Amino acid sequence: MNNALRGQYLAALGLESWTSRRGPAGDPTQREPEPSAPSPSERVADLGWAELRAAVAACTRCPLSATRTQTVFGVGSVEAKWLIVGEAPGAEEDRQGEPFVGRAGQLLNAMLRAIGLEREQVFIANVLKCRPPRNRDPAPLEAAQCLPYLERQIALLKPRIMLAVGRISAQNLLKTDVSLGRLRGQVHHFGASRVPLVVTYHPAYLLREPAEKRKAWEDLQFAREVSSGVQR
Ligand code: URA
Repeated sequence: MNNALRGQYLAALGLESWTSRRGPAGDPTQREPEPSAPSPSERVADLGWAELRAAVAACTRCPLSATRTQTVFGVGSVEAKWLIVGEAPGAEEDRQGEPFVGRAGQLLNAMLRAIGLEREQVFIANVLKCRPPRNRDPAPLEAAQCLPYLERQIALLKPRIMLAVGRISAQNLLKTDVSLGRLRGQVHHFGASRVPLVVTYHPAYLLREPAEKRKAWEDLQFAREVSSGVQR
């Protein structure tokens, strides 16, 4: 494996590239103690919006940094009460640097409008900030390395509700392999802050299966009730 690739995989594991501090003839007992590097989540936990955006833009924690055009931080109001979380940027999102800008994005906008929300009123992000090549599913390591960024976005935003769109988003956020069908229709909670979280279909799936739009509509109405504190 070449050094650059090894460096990327080490970075993905939260490890710095290894270099000898003593040289070939050095005495191991004289080695300086290694400073303990903060974990990825510790490094972002105190960042404000601008610093967080810059940290994401410069991120090389996983090998997707080598194949992305740019990172896709998220878009919307930092005052938003709703946080919509998708899977990962696709080709168009990678090109424009904004989540949900393709056909699936148009449908997402229409779904939000159906419950009285404009795109600008919510915050939209993804489990991953970088596009996986050929739009493959996020690898567990990529999702784990990227999660601290989303966690920090959630801590700053303090949303009233999170809407996970699609199986990949729901399963990563809830750390489960339960099917999307079984995750729908209930209030889940995200992380230590226990933000209420509702699951629905991914708009790209709804473009392929328009007959399922009715169920998505039910999910959105349910999410709206949860966000206003009225739960069935
Ligand atoms: N699909 C997603 O999950 N996220 C995007 O940003 C675009 C498509």
